[in-house]
Amino acid sequence: MPSILQVALDTPLHRLFDYRLPDGLGMVQPGRLVEVPFGRTRQVGLVLGQTDDSPIGADKLRDVIRVLDDRPALPPDILRLAQFCADYYRYPLGAILLATLPPRLRNSTPFVADTPWLVLTEAGQGAEPGARAKAQRALLDALRRTPQPRAELRAQKQGRHASALVAAGWAAWSRTLPPTENVRLMTDVPAGGTPGGGPLLRRAPSATPAATPEQQAALERLLPRLGQFGVHLIHGVTGSGKTEIYLRLIDAVLECGRQSMVLIPEIALTPQLEQHFRNRFPGRRIATLHSGLAEGARTGSWLASPDCDVLLGTRLAVFAPLPQLGLIVVDEEHDASFKQQDGLRYSARDVAVARGKQRNVPVVLGSATPSLESYSQALNGRYQLIELKQRAISEAQLPTIELVDLKHVAVDNGLTRPALQALAETLARGEQSLVFLNRRGYAPALYCPSCAWVSPCPRCSARLVLHRAKPHSSRPHQLKCHHCGFEAPIPAECPSCGNPDLKALGQGTQRLEETLNALLPTARIRRIDRDTMQPRAWTELGEAVHGGTVDILVGTQMLAKGHDFPNMTLALILDTDGALYSPDFRATERLFAQLMQVAGRAGRADKPGRVLIQTAFPDHPLFRYLQRHDYAGYARELLAERMQLDLPPFTRQVLLRAEASTMTAALAFLQRAAALAPERADISVFGATPAPMARVANLERAQLLIQSASRQALQAFIRGWHPQLDAIKPRVARWSLDVDPLVF
Ligand code: ADP
Ligand code: ZN
Ligand code: ZN
Repeated sequence: MPSILQVALDTPLHRLFDYRLPDGLGMVQPGRLVEVPFGRTRQVGLVLGQTDDSPIGADKLRDVIRVLDDRPALPPDILRLAQFCADYYRYPLGAILLATLPPRLRNSTPFVADTPWLVLTEAGQGAEPGARAKAQRALLDALRRTPQPRAELRAQKQGRHASALVAAGWAAWSRTLPPTENVRLMTDVPAGGTPGGGPLLRRAPSATPAATPEQQAALERLLPRLGQFGVHLIHGVTGSGKTEIYLRLIDAVLECGRQSMVLIPEIALTPQLEQHFRNRFPGRRIATLHSGLAEGARTGSWLASPDCDVLLGTRLAVFAPLPQLGLIVVDEEHDASFKQQDGLRYSARDVAVARGKQRNVPVVLGSATPSLESYSQALNGRYQLIELKQRAISEAQLPTIELVDLKHVAVDNGLTRPALQALAETLARGEQSLVFLNRRGYAPALYCPSCAWVSPCPRCSARLVLHRAKPHSSRPHQLKCHHCGFEAPIPAECPSCGNPDLKALGQGTQRLEETLNALLPTARIRRIDRDTMQPRAWTELGEAVHGGTVDILVGTQMLAKGHDFPNMTLALILDTDGALYSPDFRATERLFAQLMQVAGRAGRADKPGRVLIQTAFPDHPLFRYLQRHDYAGYARELLAERMQLDLPPFTRQVLLRAEASTMTAALAFLQRAAALAPERADISVFGATPAPMARVANLERAQLLIQSASRQALQAFIRGWHPQLDAIKPRVARWSLDVDPLVF
């Protein structure tokens, strides 16, 4: 019997650790969690293999403390997916594996769920409820397959039947899962395997609209391809009914007894979408997974996901165990939030494609403004391109887009007269407006008119943002850094020259709200940004907007995502100009997407929409395409530019980031790294430069860009180069590799 376990641990080291398995423990399945001694501490690790010899010598090995069988093993496909990420992103496998687990399962304290699960008792195994107790029978059948979390039973209105089973002694509530369940939950079912058992209870689904001709055409292409891997990009204008296509695909996948995973960019959208899915698929198990869930709920969702029918979640959900996975949908695939910006810097969209390939299931990417990465793959035929050019509700017209030239009209507190007039008119008609400004806080900085001091963050190369306290609140006004979290009270006088008369510089959403309240005193105004919105607040907001108790929504890009407000007929967009001439080569792509999305919020139902954009550069080509709603045209223009400049998606990039207490040290590290880089004709190594945000939280940041026309070449290059970085001495800089960086 092989008696040595190879264990992945959450360490920065790119290797596994060997431990001796005490006698009598037999085989340990790969993916199981174990507790092991590590240095002077204990760690939870993940078993990847079992052998009988170790280069270390069996007598020097330490013993496994115990196998954690109160929780499931990670299934084989997640182990494979993590291995892909470890190779592709050059990140330690153990760290990835443990990060895929919800926090509660990552530590060695016995797992106890927050809310109980309904589990079958021994008496329940052979029990036969009376023929009339159909619902109880269905629930009992469901329990024979797997325990059911209480929250799910409640959501399905099964509480009464659950109590009946408990009263009969056939089921019991439990906060821990029996080890056998843990094994059963995670077992891979072979492709085309048996159905997951069907809904607990069939209720009439909410009305399914007849598909539009475009939706029909899309489904005719997609449905026959559901059985195998392929990437399909649905490029559909806002309101074209992409969600309806996802729902029908999911329905078809459910009919085959398979599971669907739906990834969305924003936590805030989950409650809405979850409700929509529940109405559409009554009796089906819908699990949600995102970082906004409390630890206990997140753990519960993760444990329930192997047996759910549809998993809905944000980027971290891409690693959830789904043994019968049949479809992956990535909605708003262009959204930057799919890319994690620290630790494992993965793109959930790209990992979703890798997972689809590994599991041989189709991946559907959807967006009104696809990323140029995905769009170019569709143009060159690697992805299937499916286009929806019309809005689903035939009366819903795309809005007209007008520009207000800031060079020729007066601006008062960030607002022009035409903008204000449009707001007033919309208000008078009893319709709703949206005012978009991508800067939260009261003002982007505090300013001294006498010496030009502009509230610097003492720890970053950034300005402190002025935040006003709520009226009547006991908290004072504050200066806050949006990069490092530094906070300070408002100085009574200029710290540089002593001038007591400091001014708020520029506009933030808070100030805009104040201005609008003063100018349109009868309007009911709501602000939406990270300072005001908790995930739960969205449901309430949706109700307020639908119920007509709000006239004007003021907010940041949070507003732009996916909401469907039928009475919203005006979108006002203030101050976009920073992105038009930004050094970030993706700035115009992002701005275009954002403007299309915001514009998409206007005129969704039977009322025509209007979009007003204030800009000092009305001649910028971006606006020409925007006014024609011509994503494809602008995408082609941007792609031509990127091709000429050798930029992604025509090249692939990796960024080596370094942080140190001085810029000299950060740059010196990168120069050493560049000197160690193997010379290859197909790889360009650029010079080390300070990062655009050169200092954050007292650390100086620099970066080194590596680029190649070939992904394979770049991967081979970093595979050789990466281990050498570890050896650079002295270690004056902290470094990380960012593969396919989005933010520089
Ligand atoms: P997208 O995600 O493409 O922006 P949605 O899926 O939100 O669009 O659909 C926009 C609106 O059109 C929604 O109100 C939706 O209910 C409606 N809709 C979608 N498909 C149909 C259809 N086939 N018939 C009628 N209404 C539809
Ligand atoms: Zn001053
Ligand atoms: Zn700061």
